[in-house]
Amino acid sequence: MLILTSPLWVAQTNTYVIAKEKGGLAVVIDAPPDDDAIGRLLNDHDLSPAALLLTHGHIDHMGGAGPFQRRTGAAVHVHPDDDYLTLEPARQLQGLFGTSPLGDWAPPDVRTDLIDAELLDLAGFVLEVRHTPGHTPGHCCFYLPAQETLFSGDQLFARSVGRTDLPGGDWETLLSSMKSRVLDLPDETQVLPGHGPQTTIGAERRHNPFLQGI
Ligand SMILES: [Zn+2]
Repeated sequence: MLILTSPLWVAQTNTYVIAKEKGGLAVVIDAPPDDDAIGRLLNDHDLSPAALLLTHGHIDHMGGAGPFQRRTGAAVHVHPDDDYLTLEPARQLQGLFGTSPLGDWAPPDVRTDLIDAELLDLAGFVLEVRHTPGHTPGHCCFYLPAQETLFSGDQLFARSVGRTDLPGGDWETLLSSMKSRVLDLPDETQVLPGHGPQTTIGAERRHNPFLQGI
């Protein structure tokens, strides 16, 4: 199994590319506004994207989704509760930078809705969708049972958790989804977050200050 990653854009968002082997199909998880860099990750390993999965609709995770889809034809999967973000990348950028940047910021033309607990069969992998609202209403983590790996987006980081002070965020909701849809996984589960280094469920259960007592 190949897991390629690169921190991209000003937010240093981890894009992940997973594939069974070089030269085959790949699944891309999250697309910061640098679709050229994602294309290079794929090209370096001669991979074709079967799908792009978005953990949530914040610009640093989905800004590149529209141009990536128009260039590659890959299906884009995202939870509909984040449509208020996913459909407005230019407005999000304007909020950050105060101007409307030049470039192709249109959202993906076609989106496939993520559904909690569904099993996606993509590029030879089975991925379980885990809807984890709190950071945003439509945030999802992606779990690979066979590989004991969780792509946690902005839900869970090494020693931290996603912020809930942005529009649509809610702290109690985040704690609730953490308990039922993240901390129910085994300690040995590898966690690959949307920012920063990888960790495990066991390490976070023991040492993450935000998870104590929930
Ligand atoms: Zn976010």
